[in-house]
Amino acid sequence: MSIADNIKELKKETDAINVTLVAVSKTKSADEILEAYHAGQRLFGENNVQELVEKYENLPKDIEWHLIGHLQTNKVKYIAPFISMIESVDSLKLLQEINKHGLKNNRVINCLLQIYIADEDSKFGLGFDETIELLRSEEFQQLKNVQIRGLMGIATNTENPKQIKEEFYELHTFFDGIKQSYFRKDDQFSVLSMGMSSDYKIAIEQGSNQVRLGSTIFGSRIIKHWKNN
Ligand SMILES: *Cc1c(COP(=O)(O)O)cnc(C)c1O
Repeated sequence: MSIADNIKELKKETDAINVTLVAVSKTKSADEILEAYHAGQRLFGENNVQELVEKYENLPKDIEWHLIGHLQTNKVKYIAPFISMIESVDSLKLLQEINKHGLKNNRVINCLLQIYIADEDSKFGLGFDETIELLRSEEFQQLKNVQIRGLMGIATNTENPKQIKEEFYELHTFFDGIKQSYFRKDDQFSVLSMGMSSDYKIAIEQGSNQVRLGSTIFGSRIIKHWKNN
């Protein structure tokens, strides 16, 4: 199936249950993104700042961009003027830097806290205790140019659906607790971003309302530099 067909099918499936579809376009060319765009997709996710900035500059301005990969504090300034959501906030220091650049650009930047749920060493994210510590801190209360819209998590890369299910279940439970304790009166805290191509169906069953799909839409990512596509 073509990229356009994939988008139409997935949008139909996710729209029907109020799940937001983030089309993960990392390593994919402008033409491939435009095919998805012309099929109606306006929300795309990227994990590399330089690639994201170049795509932002060259593609239609009504695209909403989400950063879904690890962000270094010294790169926040490049995306702060236009980013629609940073899904991968994993420290107070990073949040403070995003706030600083939100202020400079006279905007409030939407963020998700990335929570570590996988049984792997390689994934970034905050632990449950760290998240609570961040939300309770004096420093966090002072940040006026960031808005925490919810949580994001990546499950273990495993063939074992039971493990994936348990990890998503845990994150959903944690989300409900955080909402109740820290965002009860804040309707903006509503996004639970879990699920990628291999596990999004399990994620939706476990309460995800935002999925991040790359290969299901664009096909597998051959390891090559996106500029040489
Ligand atoms: C690459 C990536 C995805 C999409 O992965 P697919 O398996 O291609 O769907 C989702 N989330 C994050 C954080 C990613 O880095």
